[in-house]
Amino acid sequence: MTESPLTVAYLLAGVLFILSLGGLSAQETARRGNVLGITGMLLAMGVTAASPAVTGYPVLAGALGVGTLIGAVLAARVAMTSMPELVAVLHSFVGAAAVLVGISGYLAPPTELHGVARTIHDVETFLGVFIGAVTFTGSIVAFGKLRGTLASRPLLLPARHWANLGIVAGCVVVGAYFLRDQPPEAGLRPLLAMTALAGLLGIHLVMAIGGADMPVVVSMLNSYSGWAAASAGFMLGNDLLIITGALVGSSGLILSIIMCRAMNRSITNVIFGGFGAEAGAAPARAASAEQGEVVSVDAPGTATLMREARRIVIVPGYGMAVAQAQYPLWECARLLKAGGATVRFAIHPVAGRLPGHMNVLLAEAKVPYDIVLEMDEINEDFPETDVVLVIGANDIVNPGALDDPSSPIYGMPVLEVWKAKAVVVMKRSMASGYAGVDNPLFYGENTKMLFGDAKKNVDAILAALQQPAPAGERAAA
Ligand code: NDP
Repeated sequence: MTESPLTVAYLLAGVLFILSLGGLSAQETARRGNVLGITGMLLAMGVTAASPAVTGYPVLAGALGVGTLIGAVLAARVAMTSMPELVAVLHSFVGAAAVLVGISGYLAPPTELHGVARTIHDVETFLGVFIGAVTFTGSIVAFGKLRGTLASRPLLLPARHWANLGIVAGCVVVGAYFLRDQPPEAGLRPLLAMTALAGLLGIHLVMAIGGADMPVVVSMLNSYSGWAAASAGFMLGNDLLIITGALVGSSGLILSIIMCRAMNRSITNVIFGGFGAEAGAAPARAASAEQGEVVSVDAPGTATLMREARRIVIVPGYGMAVAQAQYPLWECARLLKAGGATVRFAIHPVAGRLPGHMNVLLAEAKVPYDIVLEMDEINEDFPETDVVLVIGANDIVNPGALDDPSSPIYGMPVLEVWKAKAVVVMKRSMASGYAGVDNPLFYGENTKMLFGDAKKNVDAILAALQQPAPAGERAAA
């Protein structure tokens, strides 16, 4: 394929990516958005393979074959609860690719470059490798934290901001050596030194962030991976890679800003790391007996409470995803709706382990979109709610986020479920959630705990709801 049809095809693929992002912005159109994105990517890969620059077909076919196989097996096997880890690993691949493209492009530039053109190319390479290395190691650390291999607690070294600044200053000094007029072999050493420093920076930035603040880091790394891809596009002189990278980079940044607002965090702190908990800050106030008794309830008791309620709100969290309880849960909601109750679902922006995690699970179970409300849309309705069913959620319904300044999640807006007339919390134990913070909600006067696996308990509630109401209950109703 010659240059101009290639450019037209790239433009078309770029338009498809933009339309895809537009589609992904609403649940109703998300499926179409996905199809448009896949079409754009197939077009981009097809025309690139057919372009005159590509000659090594056996190598390309081998790489594509192995890559497709690994990707397909991983995607088919991954559980919904492990999706964030997979996303983090994929970000790390983009970072690693930018580093490798940068180093190889430096050693073997596509054309002989001199003077200003060479300087521009070298600056592009240096920045591209820097962003790529930060993205690579940062994403690996994020993967470890999401998987639980690394503690989710933030690592707050003394003078950590100075350490970050020192690493950046080191990169600038090494960069000056790199840009000196010299043969490529001599520039390789400073380039590799900067790669190591940038890798260290990525590790330190993400290690310093922990607990409930990880979602913003994941979306920020998504943005970095976009910029890394865009810089690889500059290094390779590939317009489509620049467009695609810029789209991912800017949409990731917008998502990070939206999530920062939702969590009442500052974007600057996310970029420079170590926010959300200060060194030496007291741990969150221990939820203890002084806060009240833990009252438990069984599944039939919960069914009775719900059958008697007129206004019900269901708050899903990570535990619902683990238990895969969304299907019987929607069956329960349907029965209650058929009985005349108003049933709605409340979604916190960071519920689960992935932005939009709960929306996807509820959509899978065919819960209609119009009864799935965002936190801001429903928070004021809790005082008028008869029963809130919290299913496998913890941090997102923790009142300490509003009234306990010592809590690591202090300042994060939460679903104010304790204002309802009754709250039933479904979980297996009194264990804390992702942020590792105790939850005073469990000791509240109007809270009842329904212990056990969420799926088993929802099945039991469904079975109870399917039975005709006992005579006493019917009379009360
Ligand atoms: P949490 O992690 O706070 O709480 C989930 C609760 O589910 C746990 O306390 C656990 O309690 C319970 N649980 C686990 N398995 C089961 C099961 N099989 N049946 C019943 N309950 C179960 O989740 P939330 O959704 O409330 O909050 C999300 C947290 O994750 C926030 O801190 C958020 O910042 C963080 N995060 C979010 C990301 C995102 O993008 N959404 C990404 C990374 C982190 P028990 O063990 O007692 O059962």
